[in-house]
Amino acid sequence: MKIERSGFGALPDGCRVDLFTLSNNHGFEVAITNFGGIVTKIMAPDRDGELTDVVLGFDDLDGYLADHPYFGAIIGRYANRIERGTFTLDGDDHRLTCNNGSNHLHGGVIGFDRALWDARPETTSAGPQLRLTHMSLHGDEGYPGRLEVTVTYLVTDRDELRIDYHAVTDRPTHINLTNHGYYNLNGPENGDVLGHQLTLDADRFTPENADAIPTGEIREVAGSPMDFRQPESIGARIDADDEQNRIAGGYDHNWVLNTGGNLDRVAARVVEPRSGRVLEVRTTEPGIQFYTGNFIDPSLTGKNGRTYGPRCAFCLETQHFPDSPNQPTFPSTVLRPGEEFQSTTIYRFGVST
Ligand code: BGC
Repeated sequence: MKIERSGFGALPDGCRVDLFTLSNNHGFEVAITNFGGIVTKIMAPDRDGELTDVVLGFDDLDGYLADHPYFGAIIGRYANRIERGTFTLDGDDHRLTCNNGSNHLHGGVIGFDRALWDARPETTSAGPQLRLTHMSLHGDEGYPGRLEVTVTYLVTDRDELRIDYHAVTDRPTHINLTNHGYYNLNGPENGDVLGHQLTLDADRFTPENADAIPTGEIREVAGSPMDFRQPESIGARIDADDEQNRIAGGYDHNWVLNTGGNLDRVAARVVEPRSGRVLEVRTTEPGIQFYTGNFIDPSLTGKNGRTYGPRCAFCLETQHFPDSPNQPTFPSTVLRPGEEFQSTTIYRFGVST
C-alpha cells in the first residue's frame, strides 16, 4: 500500500499543483489532485480482475481549470442549490453569489472545487491517506464565518475510498460538503449508464420545482420512477411520463436515506452486469443526490480524447438536503462556533459473480 506524489502542472498564478496516487496491495488505485481535491482516476477491477478507470475527468490540469461540471471535486461550502442565494441566520440576512440562473449552486463561482488545498500524504494502519486542508475566509462567496475545512481521502485494502470531512467556524454559518464523482462502472468510453442496476435504501425523496429547488415536501417513492428500493436498471423509467423526471431530464434528485447515518448500512448499490463491477456507498449523511449527468455538455472532451455526454455517468453525492437553509423542516445545516462538523462517506468497489 502506498501514496506517491507527482507534479500536475501550475495554476495561472504560478502555484504548483500536485497529483497523489494512493494504491492498495491488489492494484486498486485512486488519483487525487490538491486542486479542488479532485479525484481524477479510480482503477477498479472487474470480475476477471481487469482494472479500468471508472470516473470521468481529464488527462491534465488544463481540463480541470476550464469549465466542467465539477468532475470528481470536493463541493463546498454548500453542495447543491440554495434558492436565490439567500438565507437568514440568527436574524441576519446573507447574500451568496448566484451561479446557476438565479440560484446558488455548489458553493458559488469559486467553490471548494477550485481551491488549491494544502496536501499532506500520510500512511496509516488502515491504508494510504491524503489529508487536505483549506481555509475559507469570512465572506467567501457571501458565506459568514471563517471556515477551516479538512478532507481526508483514505484507500483501504477492501478497495474502499473513504472520505472524512471536518470543519469548524468562528461565526454561525451553513455547511454541506460532498464529492462530485461521476461514475461509469464499464469505463466512460463504453457507453451510457442506463444498463447499470441501482438500489437506493430510501423510502422517500424531496420533489423539486422547475428550478430544481426542493418544494419542501418529502414524498414517498412508492409507485413512482424514484422507487429504487429493489434493484432496477437506471434506464428502465428514466424517461417516464412523470413530472419529476421531466423537470430533471432524467434523475437529479435528493433521496432521503433510511440508513440513519449508520456506516454499516449500504445506502446505495450499483451493479454493472457486463463487467460485474459493483459500487456500494455508505454514509453518515441523511441524503443522497442521484444525478444521471443529464446536463453534461456533449462537446466536452475528457480523458483519452473521448467525448462525454448526458447519461454517460451517474453521481451519488452524499449530502444534507438541497436548500436546507431555507427549509425549516429539513435536517439543519447550521454550524456554530465551538461545534465540529463531521461527515463520512465510503465508496466500496467490488464485483458480483
Ligand atoms: C446537481 C445538478 C448539476 C450538477 C452539475 C448536481 O449535483 O444536482 O443539477 O447540474 O451537479 O453541476
